[in-house]
Amino acid sequence: MNIRAQVSMVFHLDKCLGCHTCSVACKNLWTDRSGVEYQWWNNVETKPGTGYPSSWENQDEYKGGWEKVGNTVRLRATGKLRGYTNIFFQPHLPTIDDYYEPWTYKYEDLFDSPPQDTQPTARPISLITGEHIDTIEAGPNWDDDLSGTKFYARKDPGILKLSPDEQKAIFEFQRIAFFYLPRICNHCLNPACVASCPSGALYKRGEDGIVLINQDVCRGWRFCVSACPFKKSYYNWKTGKSEKCILCYPRIETGQPQACFHSCVGRIRYMGGVLYDADKIEATAASEEKDLVNNQKAMILDPKDPAIIKQAQKDGVHMSFIESAQKSPVFKFVKDWEIALPLHAEFRTVPQLYYVLPLLPVLAVKKGNTFEVDNTEFFGAIDKNRLPLKYFASLFSAGNEELIVKAFKRMLAVRYYKRQQEVGDLDKSKMLDAMSQAGISEKVAEDIFKMISIPTYNERFVVPPLHREYQTAIDGDIDTYMGQPYAYKAATGFGPRKGVKRGL
Ligand code: SF4
Ligand code: SF4
Repeated sequence: MNIRAQVSMVFHLDKCLGCHTCSVACKNLWTDRSGVEYQWWNNVETKPGTGYPSSWENQDEYKGGWEKVGNTVRLRATGKLRGYTNIFFQPHLPTIDDYYEPWTYKYEDLFDSPPQDTQPTARPISLITGEHIDTIEAGPNWDDDLSGTKFYARKDPGILKLSPDEQKAIFEFQRIAFFYLPRICNHCLNPACVASCPSGALYKRGEDGIVLINQDVCRGWRFCVSACPFKKSYYNWKTGKSEKCILCYPRIETGQPQACFHSCVGRIRYMGGVLYDADKIEATAASEEKDLVNNQKAMILDPKDPAIIKQAQKDGVHMSFIESAQKSPVFKFVKDWEIALPLHAEFRTVPQLYYVLPLLPVLAVKKGNTFEVDNTEFFGAIDKNRLPLKYFASLFSAGNEELIVKAFKRMLAVRYYKRQQEVGDLDKSKMLDAMSQAGISEKVAEDIFKMISIPTYNERFVVPPLHREYQTAIDGDIDTYMGQPYAYKAATGFGPRKGVKRGL
């Protein structure tokens, strides 16, 4: 066993308003610069939909992530041999049209126009060429709320996996449903971006697992952009280097949650440390698809177990991180309650952002020609919901529908428990039976309710403390995983790191 520390995250999708405050907070802080205008390290897309960049989930097109080869995995598009032989040619990179051409408006025309018969307008100007754009045809959230349209929802790679009849059924007018999917870099345990970089510029920090790009080492080959199946590594066309979400490490290092987390209006975001067994990364990534999520969860270790605590300390994890992991909301969502699942585990990067599924499309069941919320049918709603289980499974459980049903049952059981308590219009014995079928006690239902509805700031964000004095002692200590740099156990992001001693 080789225990490491990771800052992990949970997003509760039912609470997301689609307000994009998170995206704007991140844009203002990190990507409000020339060369990165088109980059949204945090973006919020409408599902079903094609997202940003367009159809990023379609790995037949983008060839991102890992593929299983026997008992191991290999990068789909790059890897050492294929990488070096194609170093000047990458056919699977998204183009600017797959993202969108960033623009601003020529606001000065509003003030400087000569007198004329019509109102002056501020025309759109490309932030890349500086030229006037005739028609804006795409943006980072272009399909916002447009679920059901033939250009977006019907081209969702998850929807295209459904049979023609299933596709037809979910686009019945009364049935159309959508939810928001906020996305950031998953700071994966098996990051394809890190393994793909021929320059060794990407690395995963040993102390908290944040994945960063050393800007001094990056040569702009853009292998990370191709390799990341979530398309969360981007190219800065001005500096000629790649950039990505840095999980606001300067904020985390000063005890504050990430800007997108802190600013989230719906309070959907939770963060906290987890301990995991790094010896299991390769076997987990190479699991059979149906086992991927369960094996990923099994890697996360109980931070209250005395044997784990002892081994973690032996492996260099500081006690203060272990104590913070003991209070982590992520452990509760993922391990204790099992209602949060990773996005696209089949990409085999072992992502560390988990999602509580959206219950809203599940609550309405078909009654005649309409869809209504039914509080009597209990779990019947899961099968008859407006978006099929198969679609949720294609997003959150690598196709394993059992895990989706389990999570939905638990969330519905909490809902029925609270409804019975507050409104009292349900059959109590049926409600208790539903809770026992879902495998949760009244105490757990209360705990889940409190964490998803009225959590305090300190319950949502358990920021692990940082210890510079311990990091300095292990500076330059580089681990490898499958022949690629895996973790500098003391690096801090942009700037030269390998072998460089930091001051305290
Ligand atoms: Fe790397 Fe982040 Fe993509 Fe994972 S989600 S492969 S850590 S860029
Ligand atoms: Fe959703 Fe929160 Fe982002 Fe608003 S700020 S879009 S609620 S994740």
